[in-house]
Amino acid sequence: MELNFAVLVNGFVCKNANMVSADDFLFRGLDNPRNANNMLGSVVTPVNVMQLAGLNTLGISMARIDFAPYGLNPPHTHPRATEILVVLEGSLYVGFITTGNQLFYKTLEKGDVFVFPKALVHFQQNVGKGNAVALAALSSQNPGTQQIARSLFGATGPVDPSVLAKAFDIDSNLVKLLQAKFAASG
Ligand code: MN
Repeated sequence: MELNFAVLVNGFVCKNANMVSADDFLFRGLDNPRNANNMLGSVVTPVNVMQLAGLNTLGISMARIDFAPYGLNPPHTHPRATEILVVLEGSLYVGFITTGNQLFYKTLEKGDVFVFPKALVHFQQNVGKGNAVALAALSSQNPGTQQIARSLFGATGPVDPSVLAKAFDIDSNLVKLLQAKFAASG
């Protein structure tokens, strides 16, 4: 009898074991540089359960981050994961901010490893003269990423400017300007 429904595990389709192959555990091409010539000067190539189905339930994933000169992976959090990062090329100024509002930061060179504890706000900025490349491992197959500025100023809704004007102690016209920028950049 053909069962006409999909079994979900952890929210994702669980393949019949007889249909699983090595390809379900494979992602190719993470050695390929990607063009980081965008507004921030960085591009993240995730390899999580969305790209590599075999990661489901395994509690691990990774990402490649390419940086143009002066490029920034802006302040963001992964609500479900600690991140450990190694610099493969270039120099990165990196840091995270504790719940006590203390910044822990370092300038990393090729081969240096830094860890960003689960859910804390963190960033990486290329401070070298050329491109930079980093590889990150994350302690969730679905770490999630929330960029702080985009969340606050680019939320669909949007957040009422009076909320952000008071929170940042700035004029609501400046809030509207920032909201327009984030709306335009998607
Ligand atoms: Mn991160």
